[in-house]
Amino acid sequence: MELLSIVVPCYNEEENIPAFYRAVRAAAASLPGVETEYLFVDDGSADGTLAAVKKLAAEDRAVRWLSFSRNFGKEAALYAGLEHAKGDLIAVMDADLQDPPALLPELLAAIREGYDCAAVRRVDRKGEPPIRSFCARQFYKLINKMSDTEIVDGARDFRLMTRRMVEAVLSVGEYNRFSKGIFSWVGFRTKWVETENLPRAAGETKWSFLQLVLYALDGIVAFSTAPLAIASVLGLILCGVSGLAIVFIIVRELIWRGSAYGWASLVCIILLIAGIQLFCMGILGQYLSKTYLETKRRPIYILREQGGGAHEE
Ligand code: UDP
Ligand code: MG
Repeated sequence: MELLSIVVPCYNEEENIPAFYRAVRAAAASLPGVETEYLFVDDGSADGTLAAVKKLAAEDRAVRWLSFSRNFGKEAALYAGLEHAKGDLIAVMDADLQDPPALLPELLAAIREGYDCAAVRRVDRKGEPPIRSFCARQFYKLINKMSDTEIVDGARDFRLMTRRMVEAVLSVGEYNRFSKGIFSWVGFRTKWVETENLPRAAGETKWSFLQLVLYALDGIVAFSTAPLAIASVLGLILCGVSGLAIVFIIVRELIWRGSAYGWASLVCIILLIAGIQLFCMGILGQYLSKTYLETKRRPIYILREQGGGAHEE
């Protein structure tokens, strides 16, 4: 028997946890040749998430939990879960049942076929505000142009991985974690399984629009240095333009003496250049701030308590 660990990041998912556990347990029971453990990672929830998980753990020794000292974000919760999972195979699932447990047999079949990772991608974005879908699509187009690492549009975080792939993901110890990129960056063969977008079972998404935008920027900074090149290219273009302008002014002055007029256009040009300069400094600042945070080498998460499973023996 192989051990399958199911890692579940949870942030204020009190209502979803019992239903999630029941649905996954039912699906896991039919998986051939695997035993299942559940690892819930409570990401500093403010509701009864931890209590709900502890209740499950009291009934089922296959349930373990980690609980953070505060909310560290889903990426941190994922990392902690992968680090503490004991399985030979490790699956990551959201607690809100947007990742259909019914796909588990298909994912497992792919691993048995020899893939190191089987991941789920949604083929539509039904039930999502149109503006959000539009921005998401543009983001994927942009980041894939700028980065060598392929970031798959519509990829969910629902995936089943072998231990060696998880070890590789864990060896990427960066603080600014953009998992979609890391999963792809570590390589290994991935089989994509497609599904429709499902609505959340209960509760609300934890991501506001602004948070998604900031997350997208984090992703770009983490997986591309192309924006840094923009600054240099813009600088070169502007030098070229000013060279042409100088020639033009000299020629005009030689032909029609006293023709150096136009302070209004000067003001516009100065403002434009100042704007571009600030923009480029902002890009630099983004990379510098990420470098600053990385060099502090702070832990990715801090545990408050953990338990369940073997810990209670
Ligand atoms: N989540 C988390 N920490 C956070 C935000 C979210 O652990 O700070 C978990 C959340 O409980 C859920 C998963 O990450 O299990 C996905 O979150 P959500 O459903 O809000 O995101 P969406 O599906 O809308 O992208
Ligand atoms: Mg969700």
